[in-house]
Amino acid sequence: MTLQPTASHFIDGQYVEDTAGDPIDVIYPATGEVIARVHAATPAIIDRALEAATRAQAEWAALSGTERGRVLRRAADIIRARNHDLSVLETHDTGKPYQETIAVDATSGADALEYFGGMAATLTGQHIPLGEDWAYTVREPLGVCVGIGAWNYPTQIICWKTAPALACGNAMVFKPSETTPLCALKVAEILMEAGAPAGLCNVIQGRGEVGAALVTDDRVAKVSLTGSVPTGRKVYAAAAQSIKNVTMELGGKSPLIIFDDADIEDAVGGAILGNFYSSGQVCSNGTRVFVHTDIKDAFLTRLSARLSDVVMGDPLDEATNFGPMVSEAQRDIVERYIAKGQAEGARLICGGDRPEKPGFWINPTVFADVTDGMTIATDEIFGPVMCVLDFIDEADVIARANATEFGLSAGVFTRDISRAHRAIAQLQAGTCFINSYNDAPVEMPFGGSKLSGVGRENASAAIEHYSQLKSVYVRMGRVDAPY
Ligand code: NDP
Repeated sequence: MTLQPTASHFIDGQYVEDTAGDPIDVIYPATGEVIARVHAATPAIIDRALEAATRAQAEWAALSGTERGRVLRRAADIIRARNHDLSVLETHDTGKPYQETIAVDATSGADALEYFGGMAATLTGQHIPLGEDWAYTVREPLGVCVGIGAWNYPTQIICWKTAPALACGNAMVFKPSETTPLCALKVAEILMEAGAPAGLCNVIQGRGEVGAALVTDDRVAKVSLTGSVPTGRKVYAAAAQSIKNVTMELGGKSPLIIFDDADIEDAVGGAILGNFYSSGQVCSNGTRVFVHTDIKDAFLTRLSARLSDVVMGDPLDEATNFGPMVSEAQRDIVERYIAKGQAEGARLICGGDRPEKPGFWINPTVFADVTDGMTIATDEIFGPVMCVLDFIDEADVIARANATEFGLSAGVFTRDISRAHRAIAQLQAGTCFINSYNDAPVEMPFGGSKLSGVGRENASAAIEHYSQLKSVYVRMGRVDAPY
């Protein structure tokens, strides 16, 4: 199997190669096979991408919002028409089963392009009457934006950043994770095909140092990172040197609270979606599952039964519903956490080991009797490991749920509507769920509080992070100066 992209980078409307950059092998996580090779961007490639973006941005910003929106909506249509091929590519890049990628990845990217494409023509300023005088505001683009992606949703991440950026009249230079470099190239190519000017959306490959070079470049006005908290700290600090705008979508260790009146089947379903979808490699996952002691046994029994329906086959087979870890390194990290959970006394309910197959697989793993101080209850694992913690009292569980430095997501399952809203009001998290988990429609803002990030993606909230207001005071009468 070989999925060699036309070239490593997409710059100024075309594929560009520069083999002087370090080679980066692309490995299919389901088998461990090398399926492609790209090269990290050299300083010359970085410069070319930023020059192209700077030029294209001026041309793009001069178009009307309607014209810009039309390009984005056309790109959404092309993505939908090619959903199958893009989903196969996403499966190769990440290892996620086709059953997931055909439903979520390219389609959610298309949703973002469609949504922000529709919004582009509405991005106007305000008229502010001030008696005889008046003021108005103009919503202006920021300029060249840099997007840096994690490896779990390579198509979605570039679309979530590029769609609002372009709608506002900015240009984009995107660096995918070195682990999943392929999908973003296709999005840049499709935007070009949809009518974007050459240079408007550029994709360049590389490891952290390429990201760091982009973040510190004076031509860049804004940086949006999806990644871990340690990387977020570095990128935020680097961006601060030149007071760049930032959006940080970082990690989490989110609580999912299942009260004793919850519908057990739905709660188990929510916990499965919030822990095992994409083999647990989802930042917003509800990995601390607090279950009321009265229903704990029933919950664990149904959870174990439903996990026996996991199908870990060929990810391209539509019957497969659970894929491998994205890389050997990530599998090793997750296995170390599993060992730590056992060493610290958590009770292994299922999984904890690997299936006998090539590639980077781990069986879905559930620990019960987890206590707040255990490493598996405090650290983001980013793999298929669910921690079940006991609770009795509502106020106590909310305090425990909040006792984390992260604040990305939180969820509750209960049939008591007052309790649901009371609990959510107290939970310190940017994205919350009641009787559901991990829904991320483009119409709803997504992002974190505390160490989980700053800014919001999706919805009209994203516009605030990709544009700036110019205020203009207009005096209608004479100027009355004191001297
Ligand atoms: P990393 O933080 O390791 O990397 C994120 C991106 O930043 C990668 O493209 C990486 O490049 C790049 N990078 C690394 N160092 C620097 C630097 N100094 N300057 C600029 N860029 C740099 O995250 P992972 O890829 O391992 O992704 C997993 C993490 O992402 C998890 O913690 C998860 O919680 C978080 N995440 C958050 C989401 C959210 O929306 N809140 C969504 C998905 C994931 P390279 O990998 O090529 O070295």
